[in-house]
Amino acid sequence: MKKDCVFCRIVKGIEPSWTVYEDDLIKAFLDINPASEGHTLIIPKEHYETIYMIPDRELKRIIVVAKKLAKVYRKLFK
Ligand SMILES: [Zn+2]
Repeated sequence: MKKDCVFCRIVKGIEPSWTVYEDDLIKAFLDINPASEGHTLIIPKEHYETIYMIPDRELKRIIVVAKKLAKVYRKLFK
């Protein structure tokens, strides 16, 4: 965890968030300033400075969950 990182603080529950999905590797929550209905951020729970540092396992989990949430949102919001 990086103390001055808002995403780490959200993962640790120090900052509030509206969580829509969470598992051992990733967390998905609604954007505080949404560009559209259901605007969701999906992040790895570990802190990484760049995408190059994120293990493939976590990147794969993120995109699979993005697809699942997209299916749910499509039904909810049309
Ligand atoms: Zn962080």
